[in-house]
Amino acid sequence: MIPIRLDHVSKTYAAAPEAEPAISADLTIQAGEFFTLLGPSGCGKSTLLRMVAGFVAPTTGSIWFGDREVTRLAPHKRGIGMVFQNYALFPHMTVAENVAYGLKIRRAARESRDSQVAAALSMVGLDGMGSRGIDQLSGGQQQRVALARAVVIQPDLLLLDEPLSNLDAKLREETRTQIREVQETSGTTAVYVTHDQAEAMAISDRIAVLADGRAHQIDEPRRIYRQP
Ligand code: ADP
Ligand code: ADP
Repeated sequence: MIPIRLDHVSKTYAAAPEAEPAISADLTIQAGEFFTLLGPSGCGKSTLLRMVAGFVAPTTGSIWFGDREVTRLAPHKRGIGMVFQNYALFPHMTVAENVAYGLKIRRAARESRDSQVAAALSMVGLDGMGSRGIDQLSGGQQQRVALARAVVIQPDLLLLDEPLSNLDAKLREETRTQIREVQETSGTTAVYVTHDQAEAMAISDRIAVLADGRAHQIDEPRRIYRQP
């Protein structure tokens, strides 16, 4: 478990000197916290998440994982598991091969891989499904495979970008509960992106309410919507 510090971070896409940043943020995410970036389309959530992942370099400021700066770390040393809106599974691989993928590229020992994959699948309620093909699974099951693939590497940080958007209402609630359980069990710090207020309220320890490229409020769910 590590804290994430966004130290006066901003990202400006346009090169023009007068261009406004797509997002500016100065905040700390506590170790083990489930932290949500909430806001409408275009407010800068994905940009912020991509900077935390190290895919996009900040225009100003810096991002720290504990005492290490993310852009100075090689991608496989960042200790990040990611879950995307569209699952992003490998369609030609089995469930187990998908989950094992991150272990392979990190050169985890072959002998321990199978048991780690089995444990991750069990954590998301997919025991015994390892030999299935991806196209034999429902959308909800596919997102569970993606979650297993993200946590099997025991990441310091779990990043989730609108992971429930492609699921129907019933599955959304089930999968949301499961994501939170897996995060708590694994003890990883999580940063979650959504435009759905109810979802953010239900899953988060703290929420950053983003609009127009900045955080207007950062607080626990029960304090976010309280009238003064
Ligand atoms: P959100 O995830 O909240 O929808 P984004 O981070 O995707 O917001 O986008 C924030 C703003 O930055 C938007 O105005 C968007 O059009 C702009 N933007 C995002 N990515 C790029 C890019 N690669 N090039 C230029 N502008 C971008
Ligand atoms: P999301 O589903 O996260 O909102 P978007 O549709 O905003 O994703 O962005 C999809 C891709 O297009 C991203 O790679 C993003 O960086 C890029 N993008 C978004 N807005 C712009 C923009 N105004 N100009 C150029 N690229 C953009």
